[in-house]
Amino acid sequence: MSDPVLVIGAGVAGMTAAVELADNGVQVVLVDRKSTIGGNALNLYKAFPTDDCFYCFEGNRWRPGIRKCFYRSAMIDQPNIELMTNTIIQDISGTPSKFTVKLVIGPQYVDPKKCIMCGLCVEVSEAFALESPQCQPQAVTYDPSKLDEGAKKAEQDCPTKAISLDANPSEKTITVSDIVLATGYHEMQPVAVDEYGYGVLQNVITQLELARILDPNGPLGGRLVRPSDGREAKRIMMIQCVGSRDENYYPFCSKICCVFALKHANIIANERADGRVSVVYMDIRTYDRHERYYREAREAGVEFVRGRISRVVSTEDDTLEITVYDSLLDKYLRFSIDLLVLSSALEPPEGLDEIIKTLGLKTASGYVGPADAASEDEVVVGEHVYACGGVLGPAEIPESVNQARAVVSKILQGRK
Ligand SMILES: Cc1cc2nc3c(=O)[nH]c(=O)nc-3n(C[C@H](O)[C@H](O)[C@H](O)COP(=O)(O)OP(=O)(O)OC[C@H]3O[C@@H](n4cnc5c(N)ncnc54)[C@H](O)[C@@H]3O)c2cc1C
Ligand code: SF4
Ligand code: SF4
Repeated sequence: MSDPVLVIGAGVAGMTAAVELADNGVQVVLVDRKSTIGGNALNLYKAFPTDDCFYCFEGNRWRPGIRKCFYRSAMIDQPNIELMTNTIIQDISGTPSKFTVKLVIGPQYVDPKKCIMCGLCVEVSEAFALESPQCQPQAVTYDPSKLDEGAKKAEQDCPTKAISLDANPSEKTITVSDIVLATGYHEMQPVAVDEYGYGVLQNVITQLELARILDPNGPLGGRLVRPSDGREAKRIMMIQCVGSRDENYYPFCSKICCVFALKHANIIANERADGRVSVVYMDIRTYDRHERYYREAREAGVEFVRGRISRVVSTEDDTLEITVYDSLLDKYLRFSIDLLVLSSALEPPEGLDEIIKTLGLKTASGYVGPADAASEDEVVVGEHVYACGGVLGPAEIPESVNQARAVVSKILQGRK
């Protein structure tokens, strides 16, 4: 029997590759460093191009929705997939088609096979959390840095004895024939971009943080409020290209941030009474079929200002006074707003550098680059090494899924 395929990263791309390989009879080891799989797509609320909100089934009061996701349910049921969450790659050696991979599995504080998601531990301790109502495995997570008295009580009272606060990490070594990199992207935390005050002013947030706020199943129940005082946010400003197309941070365009900013602007303008949105931009880049988001935003009354923000000042009541240089009018404009949303650059995730170095891969703008830049096989990044989704550079979900399918096809061809 052939050795299994290792898929690193269980976001949309990694899950697609894993399930489709498994459906074709290939054994797969799917690892993710987090306790919950799904990656960034888990927290997007409505997603373009279909504006699907993903919440399909009724849950209960505590867990209000379950995300319909073929791949995530298949993750649990498909016997050819060994899913290892809370796991990182420590070392890769061996030769292509016979890689030896050392894995470190983090302590299993909550046994997902035993957890029945009753919510008792979350009620008594801040160390336990429900990552998402749709999380897979269906289990709460535990953060040891937040250990409190409640955590010990939760361990004692858990009805299924799923909690073990003394759990230890373990190691495992596996041999795999192929490696699929699907480690996705990270939204840059724009703390170093001083002019916007992110990390200092509470009402300055990123687009991923806005998605959590807008989500009716998110921590604020979908109420569009100012983080500083919980007051309704009526005037919202978005600023594009934060850290992208900027020699000080990332010189490349992050490709999808214009579209997701417009998606959020439309949700606010169309669904929130009194919600007024301004978008400050250098260029609006809505590639492919997504031009409709730009048209719909203009129809919905979203204001577009071509220029740059030059100053953000917070007043005593936490209103943000913003000065924008309008490059079309050649003058400075002033705005009073409740929430400033930064469309921050998408950057390679932490740890990718080491994997790239260990496997001797090429790079493109910090992401994984194709082994042969002249070839159309962008998903082939080394001998028996493939990549799909955000790890190749900013990509939307359908593109990530298509790349994952291309990887599956390459691996299956190689096994014939
Ligand atoms: C604000 C915002 C809104 C968006 N809205 C949309 C939208 O409406 N429609 C759309 O199509 N796309 C949207 N996107 C893009 C979408 O999030 C991506 O296309 C999608 O998440 C890519 O999936 P992925 O599997 O490649 O990566 P990710 O979702 O990033 O998943 C990567 C996985 O790999 C794991 N991982 C990372 N490093 C390691 C490691 N070293 N070891 C083990 N595991 C690791 C991570 O924990 C994660 O689970 C949006 C993005 C943003 C930022
Ligand atoms: S108390 Fe136990 S069963 Fe209930 S959610 Fe917490 S870990 Fe899961
Ligand atoms: S997609 Fe838009 S916001 Fe993002 S970097 Fe490119 S131009 Fe800037």
